[in-house]
Amino acid sequence: MKRKVVFATGNEGKLREIRMILADVQIELLSLKEAGILLKAEENGSTFEENARIKARACREQTECMVLADDSGLEIDHLGGEPGVYSARYLGEDTPYHIKNGRLLERMAGVPDQERTARFRCCIAAVMPDGTEYTAEGAVEGRIGYEERGSGGFGYDPIFYVPEFDASFAELDAAQKNAVSHRGRALENMKNKLLAAGVWERTAP
Ligand code: IMP
Repeated sequence: MKRKVVFATGNEGKLREIRMILADVQIELLSLKEAGILLKAEENGSTFEENARIKARACREQTECMVLADDSGLEIDHLGGEPGVYSARYLGEDTPYHIKNGRLLERMAGVPDQERTARFRCCIAAVMPDGTEYTAEGAVEGRIGYEERGSGGFGYDPIFYVPEFDASFAELDAAQKNAVSHRGRALENMKNKLLAAGVWERTAP
């Protein structure tokens, strides 16, 4: 029988990516909505790991299932790592990303190629029904582009240029993005940790 696992997110874009990556594990992945959970965790940690743990623990209080939660964001070197852990809240939580991206591009105006380095980082926390916790991280290096490009993905994807694909994250299809993304890598690391610990099993080939 497939074990139910709740992923503490309401973001459908993210959930689609996560379902693809965990397709070969014997679990049934539920969103917060599907699990009937209303999450009100205050993400006031100063690192992605703290925030992921805060979210996972808060969710765990409302379900008997194993819980996964992630926290991620974009770090731009020239801006001292901004927006970083404030990525979702940058310029206000409900501000459209076209505006957030536009502001970041303005702040990067005139900055030469070699100083446009940036990365997406992600930390995933898992909390088991008995309270045992695991964490895993992933990152992807890229550069801030000069304009928004592409219509796929979400968030800051249109301004995150990945040299190995010569494209922005928003110009890649989901499988390409998953193969290199911070969340893809963090999830792969978490998957391998939990498989090695015997917590998860792979689906039969
Ligand atoms: P969260 O806390 O993991 O939901 O992510 C925080 C914020 O980081 C999101 O709201 C986005 O602004 C940004 N972010 C995280 N992952 C991605 C991504 O894969 N593409 C674009 N933006 C992202």
